Amino acid sequence: MRDNIKCKMCNTNVSQEACELAGYKTMIDGSEQFFCCKRCAEDYEKKKIRK
Ligand SMILES: [Zn+2]
Repeated sequence: MRDNIKCKMCNTNVSQEACELAGYKTMIDGSEQFFCCKRCAEDYEKKKIRK
């Protein structure tokens, strides 16, 4: 499956392949969340932790 996905943080369209290569993904609640950049991934994680 090569669906385009959206950054969970800023809603930018990003290819799943690019995410996997760049490592801009993180496991949250047992599911993979993808992001357009490292910054978005980190911000999202912070948001989750701080709630
Ligand atoms: Zn983003």
